[in-house]
Amino acid sequence: RARKRFGQNFLNDPYIIDGIVSAINPLPGQNLVEIGPGLGALTEPVARETDKLNVVELDRDLAERLRHHPELSHKLNIYQGDAMKFDFASLSSEQNPLRIFGNLPYNVSTPLMFHLFSFAGAVQDMHFMLQKEVVNRLAAGPGTKAYGRLTVMAQYYCKVVPVLEVPPSAFKPAPKVDSAVVRLIPHKTLPHPVNNMKWLDRVCRDGFNQRRKTVRNCYKALIDGDTLESLGINPTMRPENLTLAQFVAMANWLDENHNSQ
Ligand code: SAM
Repeated sequence: RARKRFGQNFLNDPYIIDGIVSAINPLPGQNLVEIGPGLGALTEPVARETDKLNVVELDRDLAERLRHHPELSHKLNIYQGDAMKFDFASLSSEQNPLRIFGNLPYNVSTPLMFHLFSFAGAVQDMHFMLQKEVVNRLAAGPGTKAYGRLTVMAQYYCKVVPVLEVPPSAFKPAPKVDSAVVRLIPHKTLPHPVNNMKWLDRVCRDGFNQRRKTVRNCYKALIDGDTLESLGINPTMRPENLTLAQFVAMANWLDENHNSQ
């Protein structure tokens, strides 16, 4: 029986499973890591293409099943535990960056992605099944409703490519929402690096928590209007219209000029 608290919705549509595995395109010798293998819907077809596969599964019973799976167990490195606390860097090497994938538990997908972004330097690419709405947020552009802190953080680290839409009927039990698969490719060199992530996080939170304010009012405790203009930011615009480069410009200005006590 699926455990709701672990966000368990198992894929059972062979056509969709095929589509996801082709999108991942696993090859022998690659450093593949699956988050939440569950009953193995993706694990089996991926393992067929490779010699070795790391999996991180929170559910003890499911991890135990995989440990005894006749065709899979000899190919798997099984880590039973919380992916949100897992040190993904421990699996990577410079020669063999990580290829992470998974049909993620939707209840924790956002904090889990934030955790994964912190390992972006060790990652070649990631393929995730998510709520369609979350994929829309990852891929959004400035000035849209879906554009938010998750967008800015994801696009800071990665190129975002939506791959495939998936209806509820592809899962058992069927989730209440539409799903989609996304590919995230970490930038080799960050297009807009920040000196201190603390400030990027701060300007995003302040901006997206007060979408109706002007940029001037939103940041008035931190940055004055003249400074905003000098950074190429019109103080009368709304924060949701700021580009990643503009959020980064504010973050780096704050890092240099803000006297935090
Ligand atoms: N990959 C399987 C499939 O596609 O049928 C299962 C996907 S199901 C949506 C999510 C899986 O993630 C479940 O197996 C669940 O037990 C596991 N899981 C939930 N929370 C987790 C966490 N924090 N860390 C690792 N695995 C987790």
